[in-house]
Amino acid sequence: MTGKSESAVTDAEAGDEQIEVSDPAPVGDKAEDVAAVDLTKVGKIFDAGSVTALVDVSLKVLAGEFVSLIGPSGCGKSTLLRIVADLEQPTSGSVTVHGKSARQARIDQDYGIAFQQAGLLDWRTVQANVELPLELHKVPKAERRTRSAELLEMAGLSDFAHRYPAELSGGMQQRVAIARALARKPSLLLMDEPFGALDEMTRERMQGELLRIAGETGAAVVFVTHSIPEAVFLSDRVVVMSPRPGRISEIVPTGGWGRGGVSGDDIRSSEAFFEAVAAVRTALRGGHEATDIIVAGQDMR
Ligand code: ADP
Ligand code: MG
Repeated sequence: MTGKSESAVTDAEAGDEQIEVSDPAPVGDKAEDVAAVDLTKVGKIFDAGSVTALVDVSLKVLAGEFVSLIGPSGCGKSTLLRIVADLEQPTSGSVTVHGKSARQARIDQDYGIAFQQAGLLDWRTVQANVELPLELHKVPKAERRTRSAELLEMAGLSDFAHRYPAELSGGMQQRVAIARALARKPSLLLMDEPFGALDEMTRERMQGELLRIAGETGAAVVFVTHSIPEAVFLSDRVVVMSPRPGRISEIVPTGGWGRGGVSGDDIRSSEAFFEAVAAVRTALRGGHEATDIIVAGQDMR
């Protein structure tokens, strides 16, 4: 099943076009019992049949739920997220977002997106980038200022509000993109390895902030990561995918610990946390050789 050579499209290349400006709808105007994301038997074939990226993926992400997708490089995680965001069409199966078609959800701007590439507008300051989704929604200036100040504080970027993206490190740019994705308190966040470029300390702080914000706003999150500890810390469920063609090989329920108000350090050093990390690692190895896991990302060893 893994006999094919790795495709030339790397993660980074696949991410190149992921620069869509997120512009989510606010929480509160959705029916509570409609799943945030509902995927039914989704399949995706690229290049006129030569690359089968996804096979038969069915997954329901409930309102307010935090679900991580983890799996080796090329298993279709980004493709799956792009299908939810209507940036890619499934070859088979169906997708709904908040009970609507993916297309309608995109038109209605029902979610926030933060992908691998920060995708900032170079000619706008950091503050203006964060405020863009609010501007597009005609949020009054004073309110925009308050909100962007809050978000930049959260992202540790208050001192950089008036700088331009080119003046920031890659990690800082990514933090701006995350702040922007959160600007309208989306009821669904789609995040593709958003913390990959951050140093460990910043990464853990952003994880905590993400959980706090998702908890406060009741947002559902679909989060792609290469890091087992990150997936376990953040998630209610970790969806483990098999190598190409990507399928769901196992779903590991985790504690949703991050939301409980207990310190991150205590959680990360707890027995239950280690057990869940081990369970995800075992699930990942169940589908393929351990060497593939090492290739996929250093965090997986
Ligand atoms: P992951 O995010 O899990 O690393 P991707 O979703 O980026 O995986 O890719 C899954 C598979 O689909 C890979 O084999 C990749 O090469 C292929 N792929 C992704 N996007 C395209 C595309 N636009 N055209 C052709 N093949 C693609
Ligand atoms: Mg990817």
